[in-house]
Amino acid sequence: MRFENTTPAEISPPIRKLCRDAAGNAEPGYIPVRTGTETTGLTAVPGWAIWQCADALIEAEFHVAWRTSAGELVDIAARPGGEETILFVEDLRRGAATPDVDRERRALRRDPLIEDFITLGRKQFLLMQADQAADPALLRRLAVSQLIVKNMLERGLGGEDPCLCNSGKRYKNCHGKAVRSLRV
Ligand SMILES: [Zn+2]
Repeated sequence: MRFENTTPAEISPPIRKLCRDAAGNAEPGYIPVRTGTETTGLTAVPGWAIWQCADALIEAEFHVAWRTSAGELVDIAARPGGEETILFVEDLRRGAATPDVDRERRALRRDPLIEDFITLGRKQFLLMQADQAADPALLRRLAVSQLIVKNMLERGLGGEDPCLCNSGKRYKNCHGKAVRSLRV
């Protein structure tokens, strides 16, 4: 299983709920990606890009799309996965100049490793937002934990399995413990 974000194949009930939670609007739609489009004459439309990571979690990422003079909504950001469409929900309560907001993340099944992955994402966001320059050692530890959790999820492993850092301990007693101690 590849553990990476892609455009969801369908607008499932959990996605509608995520859209309501993030945008107060449960009507997302697929919009085309037109990388390199000039924004002159286009109108910025604040909202959220919706991503699905395998069968593990869904995320809403604050994002600005653009409306053309013909009324079509388009995305102009290059996507790492090369997506030609993204799922987008408008958020009329926000301005396009909204400062960084964290992603809204929801687990699609009960799995302590997915919960840990979500916790690490939130913690990383909070560290990057902190007024003081984030502690590089802490950021590095966080990145290592993220990589371990991601690799364990990709291999279908659980908390009882040996931690991938090769400590010889079970994940839940090794990096799982480290993640729990980071919870805010
Ligand atoms: Zn470990």
